[in-house]
Amino acid sequence: MTSNVLTQKPHILEITLEELKAIVATLQLKPFIATQIMEWVYQKCVCDFALMSNISKANQKTLSEAIETKWGEKIDVLPSKDDLALKHIFYLNDDAKVEAVVLKEKTYNTLCVSSQAGCPVDCKFCLTGVVGFKRNLQTYEIVGQIFSAQKQGHAISHLVFMGMGEPLLNFDNVFKAIRILNAEYGFNISKRKMTVSTSGYLAGIERLIKEDIHINLAFSVGCANPQKRELLMPIEKRNPLTEVSQALHRYQALHNRKLTLEYTLLEGKNDSHQDIRELCALAKYLSAKINLINLNPHPKIPFKPISTKSLHQIKETIEKAGVPVTVRFKKGQDISAACGQLGESYL
Ligand code: SAH
Ligand code: SF4
Repeated sequence: MTSNVLTQKPHILEITLEELKAIVATLQLKPFIATQIMEWVYQKCVCDFALMSNISKANQKTLSEAIETKWGEKIDVLPSKDDLALKHIFYLNDDAKVEAVVLKEKTYNTLCVSSQAGCPVDCKFCLTGVVGFKRNLQTYEIVGQIFSAQKQGHAISHLVFMGMGEPLLNFDNVFKAIRILNAEYGFNISKRKMTVSTSGYLAGIERLIKEDIHINLAFSVGCANPQKRELLMPIEKRNPLTEVSQALHRYQALHNRKLTLEYTLLEGKNDSHQDIRELCALAKYLSAKINLINLNPHPKIPFKPISTKSLHQIKETIEKAGVPVTVRFKKGQDISAACGQLGESYL
């Protein structure tokens, strides 16, 4: 169990039911209190022991001395003009900030979750990369993003780890959060509705295989040509595309989960016929679908998006090659909540 570094107490949003039962036993309280607490937290979105009315005042005091509950005291919520995206900026207790975005679909809501404050991977087209790396998020700071969205009345059924940060570089905290979010006592979000997106960190993918973790993966390709990729995504140097693809292939063979190739289009950098041919070959090898994202521009990012016409042509070329393809609809550009735009709050 990790604990809040500032208080050394475990945080309520990062304890599993098993761990909570052990704490409750150490505090010499009745075992059923652990279940009551989880009901308050995950069904009623109440973290504060003082509000847990079926727990006695004395027990509330004992619990609050042993377990940290502070979360989300300072949040900004920014709705997009079309009201389809809602960005949350969480101000953490050490000046770090983290952003999460509620994406409203017709019949359900997805939360785009952050795994790190900033990101060390430094992809040249991503604002989070430009902002740089602040720190890994603790488990409770990841679970807390979903907790706050739920508390504000946005029922979240789908999660995408496509916010700030490279999730596989914060493996332990991200996958502990996933365990809690997936648990029946937690928010009970199906793993089939969770997607972890990675820029291709080999050791992380190897760990997914070794630990037999089943989750939908998205791989951010950048460019399917290794030399060109390295110029856009420095991670290529130590995590070569050939090895990453082989690792993803092995993961797919073992788990048969959905794999998506995320492809951010940059004018003149990765949009040639040859680039798209190489992308299709990779998708076929991995039995993956392609998700095209036209660049969300920003003054700090030295690239341009492609034209809408070219985007449609590329989509058609991919379809003709027999690879399933979708185009990511830009939600929340006006509030800097679209892909690769998170981190604005640092600038
Ligand atoms: N670090 C992980 C998770 C973040 S996902 C990863 O890179 O996969 C963010 C997604 O948005 C990635 O697919 C990334 O390639 C894409 N992206 C980054 N910057 C972008 C931008 N400016 N415009 C459009 N997409 C961008
Ligand atoms: Fe980090 Fe992903 Fe942005 Fe690259 S695209 S800098 S890995 S958040």
